[in-house]
Amino acid sequence: MKYITSWSGGKDSTASIILAHENNEPLDLIIFSEVMFDKNISGELPEHIDFIKNKCIPLFESWGYEVKILHSKNTYIDLFYRMVKKSKIESRNGKIRGFPMNMGCHMNSNAKIPPIREFWKSQDENVMQYVGIAIDEPLRLDRVVQSENQTSLLQKYGYTEQMAKNKCIEYDLLSPIYEFANRGGCWFCPNQKMQELRHLRDNHRELWNKLILLSKEDCANPYFNTFRKTTVDDLEEQFMWEDKQMTIFDYEKENISEVKNETVT
Ligand code: SF4
Repeated sequence: MKYITSWSGGKDSTASIILAHENNEPLDLIIFSEVMFDKNISGELPEHIDFIKNKCIPLFESWGYEVKILHSKNTYIDLFYRMVKKSKIESRNGKIRGFPMNMGCHMNSNAKIPPIREFWKSQDENVMQYVGIAIDEPLRLDRVVQSENQTSLLQKYGYTEQMAKNKCIEYDLLSPIYEFANRGGCWFCPNQKMQELRHLRDNHRELWNKLILLSKEDCANPYFNTFRKTTVDDLEEQFMWEDKQMTIFDYEKENISEVKNETVT
């Protein structure tokens, strides 16, 4: 039996690896599927991929674990510029595809999942897969319990999601993404929350500018977020005005100091 874990760098899958290490559980291989923006730029946020490659992997290797990074042949840019040919909406045909549709992200089905699926297919031995599912996720855990070749170390050692997070903190292995988000994902993900997009724009302007440039293309799907029908330009404008606005907090602070000054004089 070969023991393998699929790892995202998130708290649950990282805590599972720590638990394997602490408890001498067998672990033969850790796999990480890295989505790419183009041939050179990762789809992971820079601070997350740095955490993965320069902090976690060297440590896991020092614990004796092999880590394999999987890549799809498709990048975000490949999919963005792919021509639409058979759309039922005639006006879309002949145009480049554009941004992923958030309700069925084509990055997930064309770039994130295929290398993982191919990897599992290539395994001819009996394999047991560790999945990072905590005891306070009963619905997801039910599926694991019913499977013969999946198991959860978080369940075995009675870990909730919060306990998994604490375990990562204990080993200084909590991804920096948790400072501004409660999930990982691609930096161009259309499902991101506003504060994550804000983080991208404020901290990785060079990546944000790439989205602005792409949004100028004549795409079949011009919306960055199809659910909210938002474009990158809409978001840029919103953030720009937010930056210019005085916050209520600033306003109150200013008024309080004015009142104080009046009282003193
Ligand atoms: S994180 Fe977002 S963009 Fe990336 S694969 Fe998942 S849904 Fe798609």
